Amino acid sequence: MKTFQYVRPTRLKDAIAAVSADPDARFIAGGTNLIDLMKRGLAAPEKLVDITGLPLKKIEQKDGFIRIGALALNSEVAKHRLILEKIPLLAQALNAGASGQLRNMATVGGNLLQRTRCPYFYDPVFPCNKRQPSSGCAAREGINRTHAILGQNDANPSCLAVHPSDMCVALAALDATILVMGPTGERRIPMGDFHRLPGDRPDRDTILEHGELILAVEIPDLPFTQTVHYLKIRDRASYAFALVSVAVALEVADHRIKTARLAMGGVAHKPWRFPEAEKALENQPVSEDVFRQVAGGAMRDAKALEHNAFKLTMAPNAILQALKTAAGIL
Ligand code: SF4
Repeated sequence: MKTFQYVRPTRLKDAIAAVSADPDARFIAGGTNLIDLMKRGLAAPEKLVDITGLPLKKIEQKDGFIRIGALALNSEVAKHRLILEKIPLLAQALNAGASGQLRNMATVGGNLLQRTRCPYFYDPVFPCNKRQPSSGCAAREGINRTHAILGQNDANPSCLAVHPSDMCVALAALDATILVMGPTGERRIPMGDFHRLPGDRPDRDTILEHGELILAVEIPDLPFTQTVHYLKIRDRASYAFALVSVAVALEVADHRIKTARLAMGGVAHKPWRFPEAEKALENQPVSEDVFRQVAGGAMRDAKALEHNAFKLTMAPNAILQALKTAAGIL
């Protein structure tokens, strides 16, 4: 690993100034992804700005939303009283992610920024547009079993990788907002805009600018406190990234769906929302037939690569199962 400078400021503005002033500086908190990238030579910052001394750990109820500080640990969020009461979908998604040890180290801000687990990205022997733009994509002709089936509308997409986070799928379903601060001040980014499709910059996973620091995630008060489910399908239950995952939240009254939220992981370069399917669920009775029809329709635009055609069946089945489980249909 390349040697680097290490600083640990205790004021926000000092941390932001330290990274903004140096194009080769990076923020670090739990380090559960960045240290791996550095050990493999995929990231080589000249300076690490440790933000764990900043006051960004609080989980609190505000007027109309819950704010989760960027440095709150995944494990703390998943067992916090407010989260379990008001947004249990987020707790389920966090508990489905990573291992217990990792959840004890990983922060909410870091979870938002974790990089893809495409194996070719981590192996410098292979060309990878995300690691080195314009070098090619080894997954296109290689083993692409875990790769995307949605969001690849370009004739020749630059990257076929999927976003790895479980937490982000729940945050997408819950209309979260990301509060960030940079050298020129604060801004709020809707979760749906935070992660990018690869386009002509597959190396950029998010719209964050260099020097912008995530301060918190804000989740609006929503009626999805009970009829929710996060379903993750993976190769081994103990610890693996999703082949596909589904976040479902329903508002149900008198056996009829008032509002619905549906998002998936493991299918696209960013957490994937299904607004048409959500609309199709509204005012419908809670029934397996309705769920089956909506699940099939949701995957209308999905396209398989050579090795992941199984996802075209697995994804709608996972949506159906998640909807049934959320609604209590056995
Ligand atoms: Fe790289 Fe993306 Fe291709 Fe994987 S899918 S090899 S991350 S460009």
